[in-house]
Amino acid sequence: MRVLYQRVAFIGLGLIASSMAHAMRRAGLVGQSAGTARSEETRAIAREINLVDEVCDTAAEAVRGADLVVLCMPIGAMQAVAQEIAPHLSAGATVTDVGSVKQAVIDAVAPQLPDTVHFIPGHPLAGTEHSGPRSGFASLFDNRWCILTPLEGCDSVALRRLESLWQGMGANVDLMDAPHHDLVLAVTSHTPHLIAYTMVGVADDLRRVTDSEVIKYSAAGFRDFTRIAASDPTMWRDVFLTNKDATLEILGRFTEELFALQRAIRQGDGALLHDYFTRTRAIRRGIIDAGQDTDAPDFGRSR
Ligand code: NAP
Repeated sequence: MRVLYQRVAFIGLGLIASSMAHAMRRAGLVGQSAGTARSEETRAIAREINLVDEVCDTAAEAVRGADLVVLCMPIGAMQAVAQEIAPHLSAGATVTDVGSVKQAVIDAVAPQLPDTVHFIPGHPLAGTEHSGPRSGFASLFDNRWCILTPLEGCDSVALRRLESLWQGMGANVDLMDAPHHDLVLAVTSHTPHLIAYTMVGVADDLRRVTDSEVIKYSAAGFRDFTRIAASDPTMWRDVFLTNKDATLEILGRFTEELFALQRAIRQGDGALLHDYFTRTRAIRRGIIDAGQDTDAPDFGRSR
């Protein structure tokens, strides 16, 4: 694979940035890598594990001379960081991000950046419930999707180069406009996370089932909700604060469906329940056929 960028700067050194750093090294996609994080502690860990070639104390230092800058922090912090780095960006550089919501990032970041840089928002649809610089791994993006949401008039050469970078890191790339991205993600990620948070919260409240029983019998389905509900609280707070409209729309639909199923259970309408679950099983089949999950029993867990 050829070198696509001479110097990449990661602002934020958590799960996504560290996975990108490993994936870029695996394929030799960048000449030199630099990065910074908010806390001295995270910067020290990044130095200790040699995550990037140069760990800088400030974002301004990290972006100096970079032809690619990747914003890898919670969405709520992006506006201030964009403001801070703006005067230090090189002309012709590409600035991208990995935030899970796109329109809010565009509104917060685009006005801060000079006209001399290419701002191309992005979102890799890959992650785990773990955070921090030690949690990344090179194969996180393999066969996953990365959605780019270029703004009108985006430079096509800069866009193609960023697409090649994600492909070099193992991902498939799709282009979409930001509002559509936010609606798609409200269905596939944001609302499911809220439902998992709610279900785990409900079990926590149910005093008729003891805590030890919740834990002991969790493999019956609850365990999969707990994995999702263990995701980073700051990141997910920001997702719901910034993708408000789409999430509320899908939640409204969800509530209606839930009432319909509740009524079917109350009325003993087995045909409705059976038809419903047949349709959902077909959706699961489609996800497996598309290579986006494993067909192994219990998601491939050994126990
Ligand atoms: P993470 O592991 O919690 O890491 C976040 C990083 O951002 C940390 O290094 C943190 O530094 C740094 N940071 C926070 N505020 C900052 C600031 N003001 N200036 C500089 N650095 C700052 O998070 P992540 O999972 O990589 O998520 C990062 C972004 O990726 C989020 O926008 C999220 O929406 C998106 N995303 C996440 C996933 C996922 O599954 N996790 C998937 C796709 C996209 P400290 O450690 O010093 O606090």
